[in-house]
Amino acid sequence: MNTFASLGLAPALVSAVNALGYEEPTPIQKEAIPVLLSGRDLVGQAGTGTGKTAAFALPMLERLMKSGAKAKGPITPNLKSPAKRFPAVLGMVLVPTRELAMQVAEAVQKYSKGTNLTVVPLYGGAPMDQQIRGLMRGASVVVATPGRALDHMRRQTLDLTELQVLVLDEADEMLDMGFAEDLEAILSETPATRQTALFAATMAPRIASIANKHLKQPERITIAREKRAPGKVARVRQVAYIVSKHQKMEAFGRILEFENPKSAIVFCRTRIEVDELNDTLKAHGYGAQALHGGMEQKQRDRVMNMFRTGKADMLVATDVAARGLDIEHVSHVFNYDVPNAPEVYVHRIGRTGRMGREGIAISIVDPRERRLLRSIENLTKQAIEVAPLPTVSDLRAKRLEATRTALTDRIAAGDLDGVKVFVKSLSQDFDVADIAAAAIAMLHEASHGDGTEPEAEIPAPSAAPAYAPRPARNAGAGRERFDERARERPRGRPREHSPKRPAAAPAGDIDMSRITVLRIGVGKKAAVRPGDLVGAITGEAGIQSKYLGAIKIAHEHSLVEVPQQMAEHIMESLRKTTIRGKAVDVRIEPGNE
Ligand code: AMP
Repeated sequence: MNTFASLGLAPALVSAVNALGYEEPTPIQKEAIPVLLSGRDLVGQAGTGTGKTAAFALPMLERLMKSGAKAKGPITPNLKSPAKRFPAVLGMVLVPTRELAMQVAEAVQKYSKGTNLTVVPLYGGAPMDQQIRGLMRGASVVVATPGRALDHMRRQTLDLTELQVLVLDEADEMLDMGFAEDLEAILSETPATRQTALFAATMAPRIASIANKHLKQPERITIAREKRAPGKVARVRQVAYIVSKHQKMEAFGRILEFENPKSAIVFCRTRIEVDELNDTLKAHGYGAQALHGGMEQKQRDRVMNMFRTGKADMLVATDVAARGLDIEHVSHVFNYDVPNAPEVYVHRIGRTGRMGREGIAISIVDPRERRLLRSIENLTKQAIEVAPLPTVSDLRAKRLEATRTALTDRIAAGDLDGVKVFVKSLSQDFDVADIAAAAIAMLHEASHGDGTEPEAEIPAPSAAPAYAPRPARNAGAGRERFDERARERPRGRPREHSPKRPAAAPAGDIDMSRITVLRIGVGKKAAVRPGDLVGAITGEAGIQSKYLGAIKIAHEHSLVEVPQQMAEHIMESLRKTTIRGKAVDVRIEPGNE
């Protein structure tokens, strides 16, 4: 059985990973968790994105739970070293960088949700006193950069005398960054009885020598690179867009509009993400269907059938659910999240570019995950083009190109005599070019809403991309806009003009980089769908739905991302209306203003 429970983890930890939407353990997790649970040391060769954080964190938490560790609550005197005021730390993860420390600490925090264990990150460049307060309150686990860990040890604010589990994460990077001596100094302050796990992307001799010196007969695990037939991904053009988290949905909408995929699979990491993205895509009028391991087989078969027969043109799926699917004619593979492991990426994009057709694989990459691209390129030996997001003028050009093609086809099809008579009669009063221009404008209005162009450019993420952006190449033809017109009507059908004029939206430039999350007091219990929320906001507040970000529907409430500038106006408008027949309570979700 491929489940976290079958690996022997406690129910609290299994529920934590289930709540994160992990469907099954990744290869490194399958191999490493049982070894670490058995108490053995481990050397793992695995890169970023393989799921190695959970591979070491879950067994660490399990062990600390079993040892009866209680870190929360008042400070308990440290009996072994009564002179010290600081409770001893039981688990420590050493990582090379501050960013990784934050990331790993956040992950460990999530995995430890159902336990009473606490996690404190310790990294340089952050105020010392805050970290000291965290240590004083009692940390079961610290996630630290070597320099800062030593700093705390010297101040006697970090007590490692009772350490049970030590993890050296990205050990090769730590050595590259000159931390060898620091590591030795830290290790010498920890008890010999500790369990140690070391992870590195490569097994250079100096890593082996650290392992030989400090680990006790470690089990060795290598996450094997998958063997591919040469050239398997050759016909797939690979593009990545670097996009910050809060702009992901909007950016994805723009990419979809630009690419106009005929049939696409959109991959997400977890089933929760699949459901959320699928809801949002549907609300935007796309023929999307979700596919994940939480669905019954019958439901999955139905979805697959819809996709195969073209009734759905987009499949939003987890890797596990999409495994083994044999689908031809996928024009686009989208990685809404960069996959966990380079091997998974190769699997995913192997779904397009089949049967000698050209395919395109598009990845949306968080600025913090750019390193993943490099490991994918190392594996595939192919470059991934990092492109800037399509701009407003790219979209405009795309639409005009689509219009030109449609007109050319229509002229070639002939049978226009009846209409020509009408044009001739109009030409007595108007210039023929004006008549044609008006007709095209009307065509655009019918297929793209009001005929206006998308206004806001999506700003580039603040961190500069590690790869130099190159201009995007065009592909595909224009489709409906990712805005309220697409959301409110079935795709492909012209919009009927609404007689109702909604309240005026705030004027001026909208800063899409500042997002507020609104909490609206209706949810699944009231059978609310994303379309209801979008409809209420666009209708009542007069705001185009392209300004709305992710929508999340919980049991009794829903969360909607809106630009900060529009939040007040939307709240006021919604308070005057009903959704699904209910007056709604609208407020800013705490912590998201
Ligand atoms: P890591 O290699 O630990 O940095 O993990 C990379 C990403 O994979 C993180 O976003 C994790 O949340 C995610 N992840 C880890 N394990 C799993 C799993 N079993 N299923 C789905 N996603 C996972």
